[in-house]
Amino acid sequence: MKFESLDEKMKKVYAKIRTIDEFHWHIDDNTIIGIHKKSGMKLQVRIAGSKEEADKLAQEKEPGVLDVIVIPGKGTFYVNNGAFIMSLKFLRPTVQDIADHIVWAGFKVIEKDGGLEQEDIYDYLGGRLIEHLKQGLVNGRDYVFWPFYKCKHCGKYVDIDSLARHMKNHGEDVKEWSEEKYEVLEINFVEKKVYDKFGKEVPMDKFSEEAQDFIKDSFEGE
Ligand SMILES: [Zn+2]
Repeated sequence: MKFESLDEKMKKVYAKIRTIDEFHWHIDDNTIIGIHKKSGMKLQVRIAGSKEEADKLAQEKEPGVLDVIVIPGKGTFYVNNGAFIMSLKFLRPTVQDIADHIVWAGFKVIEKDGGLEQEDIYDYLGGRLIEHLKQGLVNGRDYVFWPFYKCKHCGKYVDIDSLARHMKNHGEDVKEWSEEKYEVLEINFVEKKVYDKFGKEVPMDKFSEEAQDFIKDSFEGE
C-alpha cells in the first residue's frame, strides 16, 4: 500500500491527527488505528458518509477499543454506543482529549529474563472525558488528574508526593514496596471539588491532612 494511493478523505482525516504523538498511527484502507504509546490502548478512527452510516458503524464495536467516527458536514458531535461521532473539525481536539484521559495509575515490578522490570498501569477515564467535552473544560486549566493512594491503615487518600512521609508515620517504608496502585482523581478548579473516575465527589474528610493541604493549595493557585 502506498501513501499516494490513499483516498483523499482518508488523507484529510489522517492529516488532522498525525501530529498527536501520544499515539503510534497505522493506516489501512478505511481505518486509522492509533496505539497509545504508553498504555498500549487502541483507538480506531473510521470515516462514514452520513450520520446513519456512522450510527451503524458505532454498533460494530470491538470491546476495549476507543472509537471515533468522522462524518461530513460541520458542527456535529455526539456519542453513540460509546463511539464519538463528529465533524472533521472536532477530530484533533477530541483525540488529544482522549490521550489526556489515559492516565498513569501505578506500577508493579515483575521478574523477567532473570532481571526485574517495571510494568506501568494506566487507567482510561472515559466518563470524565464525556463530562469535560460537554462542559468544554480544558485539561491543566480547569482540572488536573492526580494520583492518590488509598492508605490501608487509616483509609484516607494520600497524594502521591506525600505518600512516603505518610507511610513512615504508619511505620512503613515505601522503598520496600514492589508495586503501588493509585486511584486517579480529578481536582476540578472550576468547581473547587475533587471527583473520582465515576464523577462522584470525594469529600475533603476522605483525604489525609497532607493531601487536604495540597488540594487547598491547588485551589488557591487559581
Ligand atoms: Zn494512613
